[in-house]
Amino acid sequence: MLNVPPQAFPAPGSQQRAAAGGRIKVPLKPGRSLMDWIRLTKSGKDLTGLKGRLIEVSEDELAKHNKKEDCWICIRGLVYNVTPYMEYHPGGEDELMKAAGTDGTDLFDQVHRWVNYESMLKECLVGRMAFKPIAAPKGMLSEREVLGASARDTTPSYDWFQTDDLITVVIYTKQKGMNAELVIVDCQHKRLRGEIILDDHSYLVEVDLDHEVQDDFAVNIAEKVGKVEIILKKKDHIQWKVLGLPLESHNTLLRRTERGLFYRKCKLVSKTEVTHDTKLFCFMLPKSTHLQVPIGQHVYLKQIIAGTEVVKPYTPLLPFLPLDFKEPFSQDGAHIYLMIKIYSCGLFTQALDHLQIGDDISVSSPEGNFKKSQVEALEDLFLLAAGTGFTPMVKLLNFALAKVDCLRTVKLIFFNKKDDDILWRNQLEQLALKDERFEVQFILSEPAEDWMGKRGKISSALLSECMKRSKKDSKVLICICGPTPFTQQGLQCLEDLGYSQEEMHAFTA
Ligand code: FAD
Ligand code: NAP
Repeated sequence: MLNVPPQAFPAPGSQQRAAAGGRIKVPLKPGRSLMDWIRLTKSGKDLTGLKGRLIEVSEDELAKHNKKEDCWICIRGLVYNVTPYMEYHPGGEDELMKAAGTDGTDLFDQVHRWVNYESMLKECLVGRMAFKPIAAPKGMLSEREVLGASARDTTPSYDWFQTDDLITVVIYTKQKGMNAELVIVDCQHKRLRGEIILDDHSYLVEVDLDHEVQDDFAVNIAEKVGKVEIILKKKDHIQWKVLGLPLESHNTLLRRTERGLFYRKCKLVSKTEVTHDTKLFCFMLPKSTHLQVPIGQHVYLKQIIAGTEVVKPYTPLLPFLPLDFKEPFSQDGAHIYLMIKIYSCGLFTQALDHLQIGDDISVSSPEGNFKKSQVEALEDLFLLAAGTGFTPMVKLLNFALAKVDCLRTVKLIFFNKKDDDILWRNQLEQLALKDERFEVQFILSEPAEDWMGKRGKISSALLSECMKRSKKDSKVLICICGPTPFTQQGLQCLEDLGYSQEEMHAFTA
């Protein structure tokens, strides 16, 4: 069995993760967009004031740089001079100043999540913190915790064995109810990475294999006993002496928020128009990846734009809205479908729109905080979607209609500007005709004169008129997704209408 010390320092280039809670964007001055920042970083200007030198920074020195016009921040042991970045920070200067002159790692992890600061701020790097003892990452269980009576029973472990043709890595998750959505495996160029999701923790097996294996592999899951087998095919029929060299995070159990995002390259296989500005992108996962995106979870796409890594979240959905609900529509596991609105001045979506069929893009493992148990025994499900905020509703709608026996009503209240902005309108109307439990109501904020439907914006009055329980005190869930102010206003309206926190779920990053 391989045995390595716990990860001491996150790998350079590791992505930051999403944390709970939406972030409010602050309007930026003209000329202060992400693209403008990228241009400035490429201009050759000395952004640190150190003429390209890297220095060791003491805590005292760091603390001196705590003003807007002279602001240094430490993230994971590296110190950045963020003064030139102030006006470009989407969260506003005040947010950035909260970490001025200090170690901003925790704050960064809470708020900035998936932003790749190493790439964005590389021209602002001042140097490394001096003499700072590096604590174990916060999410890692301490030895005492791991060995403690209750933890010992639940800490996963792994083993491996071989035949002439195969290498089988077995992970004993010690958790019932394991399923394919909780197992993410990538095996490329001799690097095996098997991640098991255990509620808010993840267990990782990560090894540089001793010998080459073929690209495709099998994953077997014994649900009841929580055993996961990754069966790799040897390229050469030789006996392996060891499984391989353990990588940095091998055999660790960490909080998911502490684990760097992992990306693999996916191929664009099709791009079809949904509306005048929205397209359905289909990406193919490599053969060497086993990954399924659970309901309500999003992935991050990463592209290099003008030499800088840019990351944005998107919510996978189904290729179409299924009309029959004996079982939830199950995807082949090889493709990821994303419905993406292309903004005319959007940095990321413009680059996405320029991808050609066959081009690669980096796609992260999924994350998000929706739990299927939230729809268990549900009687009424209300879905409040605005624009592409429709995307998380698709799998949810499909699952609820197929799996929740006591479900009486599912109502989608879909807010858009104009009627030609409505996504999958035909499919939604067909579903409403086919399944009497499902109803859809379109509400337009900028309707044409001949629009016969409802018009307006989200408000308590409108919601109370549109949302009727199937019976008094029915078990209800209201899911909401759209632009952040829409979601916040919706949640406030629901609270005003007397719905409890448990009865609401907001999809956010
Ligand atoms: P930017 O360069 O950031 O902005 C350019 C202009 O586009 C802005 O000035 C504004 O006019 C407009 N714009 C940009 N972002 C937004 C926004 N979020 N709301 C309203 N207007 C905006 N988008 C999808 O199309 N499909 C999805 O499935 C999807 N899933 C998401 C899941 C999560 C968890 C989150 C947080 C967001 C999701 N988004 C989705 C939005 C997506 O992440 C990007 O924000 C969006 O694609 C715009 O990126 P951009 O770089 O092109 O725009
Ligand atoms: P949009 O076309 O700009 O707007 C859709 C509808 O929402 C319109 O009726 C619009 O009315 C209304 N709306 C917008 N802002 C509002 C506000 N402040 N208060 C009340 N109503 C408001 O939407 P979009 O461009 O498709 O954007 C979709 C949003 O969903 C994006 O912000 C995206 O990030 C988000 N999204 C999030 C997730 C997730 O978190 N999981 C998933 C997918 C999408 P007006 O005419 O008044 O603007």
